[in-house]
Amino acid sequence: MKKISIAIDGPAGAGKSTIAKRVAKQLNYIYVDTGAMYRSMALACLRAGLDLNDEEKVSELCSGLDVTLRHENGEQIILLNGENVNRWIRTQEVGNATSVIAVYSKVREKLVKLQRQLAKQENIVMDGRDIGSCVLPNADVKIYLTASARVRAERRCKELLERGEEADIDVVERDIIDRDYRDMHREISPLVQAEDAVMVDASDMTIEMVTDRILEIVYAG
Ligand code: C5P
Repeated sequence: MKKISIAIDGPAGAGKSTIAKRVAKQLNYIYVDTGAMYRSMALACLRAGLDLNDEEKVSELCSGLDVTLRHENGEQIILLNGENVNRWIRTQEVGNATSVIAVYSKVREKLVKLQRQLAKQENIVMDGRDIGSCVLPNADVKIYLTASARVRAERRCKELLERGEEADIDVVERDIIDRDYRDMHREISPLVQAEDAVMVDASDMTIEMVTDRILEIVYAG
């Protein structure tokens, strides 16, 4: 039977993961956070001390990595060569490194293949940057979730502080703007709103409001 897929794309810190997780729970679908896959590869590069601008070295290392997903109580667990790396991939450093290596074709090809396989096997809510535009062009519902850079920076700061990390709102906002720029201007699969995606601007909306709006779009489809 054909599986249903819901694609949620958008810039950094728009709340995609939080919302996608909630929507998936409501629908009893599997939640797939593709950013976490790219982050796990960036983590491996940082651990290996690679120069992230060296495409050949980064591609070589990433080609040999085993990235798999497991789901436990609605949470996605990323296994990098069998190691659960969830707690290591959420730092600002890994986030910034991720958007540097996510431009490389070898890195993307490998993860896009894995993402398409997952979508064939399960009903999913998948979040990322290129899901509606490239990974799943025939997704049943496509959402482009965004919010102003300041609001996104405020949310990221709150998350970082809650995890005991230091966070300066101006630095976080600048990082977000730089990351968006790299994601929107790369050659392969840049972040764009797919033609048939519905835009949701969450700047003045609560998590509950955004979740309800997306479920409304899903049920209307
Ligand atoms: O969504 P998250 O902030 O975890 O994504 C981290 C980075 O991974 C993004 O800034 C982007 O460079 C990359 N990414 C991507 N394609 C995706 C998901 C994430 O290039 N589908």
